[in-house]
Amino acid sequence: MPLAASTAVYCPRELRRVLTAICTAAAPFEAVAVLGGRLDGTQVHLTACMPLPNVAGAADRFAVDPTAFAHREAALRAAGRAFVGFLHSHPGNRPSPSQSDRDELWRDCVHVIAGGGPHHWRLRAFVAARHGLRATHWRYWPR
Ligand SMILES: [Zn+2]
Repeated sequence: MPLAASTAVYCPRELRRVLTAICTAAAPFEAVAVLGGRLDGTQVHLTACMPLPNVAGAADRFAVDPTAFAHREAALRAAGRAFVGFLHSHPGNRPSPSQSDRDELWRDCVHVIAGGGPHHWRLRAFVAARHGLRATHWRYWPR
């Protein structure tokens, strides 16, 4: 799924509550979750978010079990949604990619990073393209 740096990510306000609840539940460790939705040109519309266990169990990094990921991805497809990327959190820190994020995050998908917490999170979206992570437009709807 090639994504342009100009991609805009649209998050329903109701879904935002799901994303932040996942981050709060995982704190003080990093949360990680798969994001489902649909790709429409340069717009990604988020419609689902399902948490994954952070098998790194750490406050400054995350790791995903491949079998757990495969199950979530299949569940998204069964619900008629596509895997579009990941949510992860930076508890007590900024919603900006860390060096390990820049080095290791999957390319060609959306990465939403939630910073702050444990009760108030700031969310930003990034697109991991061939040449690295780029901040992209993050929009709520209804506005
Ligand atoms: Zn990170």
